[in-house]
Amino acid sequence: MTDCIFCKIIRGEIPSEAVYEDERCYAFRDIEPQAPVHVLICPRDHIVRISDAQPTQEELLGHLLWVAADIARREHISEGGYRLVVNCGVHGQQAVEHLHVHLLGGRQMEWPPG
Ligand code: AMP
Repeated sequence: MTDCIFCKIIRGEIPSEAVYEDERCYAFRDIEPQAPVHVLICPRDHIVRISDAQPTQEELLGHLLWVAADIARREHISEGGYRLVVNCGVHGQQAVEHLHVHLLGGRQMEWPPG
């Protein structure tokens, strides 16, 4: 989708601070970080929300989680722990309609979420 902000970031049309990339995904720092480490891991494919993912994308979904855990190790937040979040749709308060995993860490998280 050409007017998707995350597609534009992935294509390099909007600047971002890259953290990791491979042929399947692109990870960059959130512009409004909610924790000392706040990284977004996006599939290069334009999947609107996780509920739209197809059976053929099952491995890709696993890859996004693997990459998130790998980035956490490299950001030195694995030992203390961190949170992975995937907001989905209106009730999930998903603001950007391109699937992404939030990696949040470097501080104590709270539960329950709002
Ligand atoms: P969500 O509510 O799950 O859709 O999260 C969208 C996230 O994208 C928010 O945390 C925003 O701060 C972040 N965001 C929006 N625009 C940009 C941008 N240009 N660069 C980096 N992060 C962004």
